[in-house]
Amino acid sequence: MKKIAIVGGGISGLYFANILNSEKNFEYKIFEKKDNYNFQEGYGIQLSVNSIKLLNNIGFKNLPASEVSFPSKVNFIQANNSKKICDIDLTQFNDPLNRYTTLKRSTLLEFLFKNVPENQIKFNSNITKIENVNNFRITLNENTYEEFDYLIIADGIFSKTKSLILNDITNPKYNFNIALRAKLIGDYGNDISIYMGSNSHYVIYPVNQNNEYNFVAIIKKKLSSDELRNHSLFKSDKFLGSLRSSLQNTSQISFQNLRELKSFPVYVSSNFANLNKKNIFLSGDALFTFPPSFAQGASQSIETANDILKSILNGSNEYYQKRIENISSINDKSKFNHFSFHLSNPISVFIRNNILKFLSKNKTFLENYLGKIYRT
Ligand SMILES: Cc1cc2nc3c(=O)[nH]c(=O)nc-3n(C[C@H](O)[C@H](O)[C@H](O)COP(=O)(O)OP(=O)(O)OC[C@H]3O[C@@H](n4cnc5c(N)ncnc54)[C@H](O)[C@@H]3O)c2cc1C
Repeated sequence: MKKIAIVGGGISGLYFANILNSEKNFEYKIFEKKDNYNFQEGYGIQLSVNSIKLLNNIGFKNLPASEVSFPSKVNFIQANNSKKICDIDLTQFNDPLNRYTTLKRSTLLEFLFKNVPENQIKFNSNITKIENVNNFRITLNENTYEEFDYLIIADGIFSKTKSLILNDITNPKYNFNIALRAKLIGDYGNDISIYMGSNSHYVIYPVNQNNEYNFVAIIKKKLSSDELRNHSLFKSDKFLGSLRSSLQNTSQISFQNLRELKSFPVYVSSNFANLNKKNIFLSGDALFTFPPSFAQGASQSIETANDILKSILNGSNEYYQKRIENISSINDKSKFNHFSFHLSNPISVFIRNNILKFLSKNKTFLENYLGKIYRT
């Protein structure tokens, strides 16, 4: 029996635990920093068919239909005049069993967590040392230790475990944008709508069948290192209010209806950590953090975890290495999306809108740009 340590019980770590449940030659333990989960949190997440396929294999399709939404289109809208430019039909990437899905992040976490036996997750974990001689010795709080054959590092964007293991680590960098998240109550339809403004864009989509929507805006903003360290700044009403008023108003959404506003700086990875060990794998944001303009972070976290298990079972890193190549290409697309969503010069906006109108209906382009990612 081989033992696997999973550090971080987020989307990637929990999904990995779920697929290990059916592997009889492995046992695992999750080390999670938090003292528990908050399944009341209402922010949303989009999952494309590539990750939905993997989730459906572990029973995700049995979630009550009222807790998820299946958008059929992405609408592209110019924020300053609320005019719809075009849309992309998402159903062309679906198959009869797997559909593009939006839901609350907490619904996904709760689904993944409920299949993890209580004695296989250790909350309040504080790993202080990891030694790697023949296998891993993980020391918790300086006094107790446990040994494992494999180590899966899935502790998110600011992975502390990565720095315990590697001498050479590259921290994610602030990408000069702030994310503003909120809940929106009302009836805004069943689609995903992207409002493109000058130096900002915002996205709304339903998270269930109960008229609850996710609102997320990405707003360009230069901040000093002191401001970035000042966590209370991001919670202050004044700062949240200024972010909200920097967005171009639209006749379709009343910003006064936004609830539970939250802001945080957006950090992204610039390269992959140099990890050349057969029994250590990085997963999810700990492996690579994307700009949030392709909505692929969670889907790739799930796909990476799946490829890690295939690599372990296969005894080679082939699947994992292939995933890293895919992630690099998705990162390029995320950066390109971000650039085109934030254009401000009217001539550039005019050209972008016309190109977008053409490409959104061009099957060959859509297959290359989206299909290759969604159908892996
Ligand atoms: C504004 C925004 C919008 C997004 N929207 C989408 C979207 O629509 N669709 C999408 O696919 N992705 C989206 N993403 C990205 C997505 O949320 C992440 O890529 C995904 O959550 C990464 O999963 P993870 O398991 O790697 O990390 P996380 O889900 O962050 O989990 C990491 C876990 O590790 C724990 N942890 C941290 N440090 C330690 C430690 N030292 N020891 C033990 N445990 C630790 C944490 O408590 C947490 O539980 C968005 C991101 C942003 C910023």
